[in-house]
Amino acid sequence: MSQFNASATRRPSTAVHVGSVAIGGGAPIVVQSMTNTDTADAVRTAIQVAELARAGSELVRITVNNEEAARAVPHIRDRLEKMGVTVPLIGDFHFIGNRLLTRHPACAEALSKYRINPGNVGRGELHDRNFAQMVEIACRYGKPVRIGVNWGSLDQDLLSQLMDENARLPEPRESEQVMHDALIASALNSARHAEELGLPHNRIVLSCKMSGVQDLIAVYRDLAERCDYPLHLGLTEAGMGSKGIVASTAALAVLLQQGIGDTIRISLTPEPGGERTREVIVAQEILQTMGLRSFAPMVVACPGCGRTTSDYFQRLAEDIQSYLRRQMPAWRRRYEGVENMTVAVMGCVVNGPGESKHANIGISLPGTGESPIAPVYIDGKKTVTLKGDSIAREFQQLVEQYVRDTYGMKTAAVQDF
Ligand code: SF4
Repeated sequence: MSQFNASATRRPSTAVHVGSVAIGGGAPIVVQSMTNTDTADAVRTAIQVAELARAGSELVRITVNNEEAARAVPHIRDRLEKMGVTVPLIGDFHFIGNRLLTRHPACAEALSKYRINPGNVGRGELHDRNFAQMVEIACRYGKPVRIGVNWGSLDQDLLSQLMDENARLPEPRESEQVMHDALIASALNSARHAEELGLPHNRIVLSCKMSGVQDLIAVYRDLAERCDYPLHLGLTEAGMGSKGIVASTAALAVLLQQGIGDTIRISLTPEPGGERTREVIVAQEILQTMGLRSFAPMVVACPGCGRTTSDYFQRLAEDIQSYLRRQMPAWRRRYEGVENMTVAVMGCVVNGPGESKHANIGISLPGTGESPIAPVYIDGKKTVTLKGDSIAREFQQLVEQYVRDTYGMKTAAVQDF
């Protein structure tokens, strides 16, 4: 696969350290996620944080919305440590964050970053006082802050001021454009104010989230040109299922391709009974399919058509993909570079052999009217032909062996060196 040279084209930004994770400054684009448990329930929240971290989330945000939640935060951190999960926790604060952080120093200490929404810290003098209090606490505990503006909770005083100024122009601009300006101004003014209050430049991350794809692209392009703070990307309220995934991908892919974005979150609404870790997998798949980072071996599978007699190859593709993901926590430690592997599972002879030859290891299953055999290609060469009822099991064994032979040797070489 041709690899997009991300480091050469990324927008230059200051590195911000969140625990052991670097955001910006040329560091790999960080995947983050957010829990949907009641934070006051420390057990359930710690379990979900651990699930998200094990799925590959490198930062996990939890809402800190009341006294009980603030009290639970250090217990969540302790439980995670006991589970061997060191992922940094980010506290999401709205309305009373200043009060919670002041009253619960153990919470302030246990979190690795605070998210402050400048539109949700009060209005007028109260806004300035509450914002300053949160920034002072971040300075005291040495924590970075994300100034996270969201158009659903935009600073109404600032928006009214910009709307009034616009109305006095000889040729007023579209209100949509004023709204974009207000989002960016809210983020940049708040960041400047935070620095005036003593928060170092390298402890600030910015975001300006919107739910419209074109709005998000326009705002981030502008924001990226006007500062060097690392940027957190995400389409807010992306929605459910394929709509949420498609909308997030459409927006983020354009920005990432232009080198904009240092950390991403995919705000999917989980389907009933669906897994929260889906948002982590989608974020990883966006970055991996764009060639920006590798997380797990990718399965290349054809869509199937009238030439496929059953859903056998679809099930095989799905089984192999989930098998590869399940192995990754162990493989990542043992097999250097295995996340770059591609596995092809193809439905017939039309594109099967060709696509399989391009993959590290691939199988071309028999389509309608073809002999019931499945040639396997390894590093571009046809090696064995599988047949009978155990094709799936034998192919999985071949994949395992390929990983041992190819990446085990690389790991041994690295260790010897
Ligand atoms: S590889 Fe064969 S089965 Fe798969 S989509 Fe193409 S023609 Fe159809």
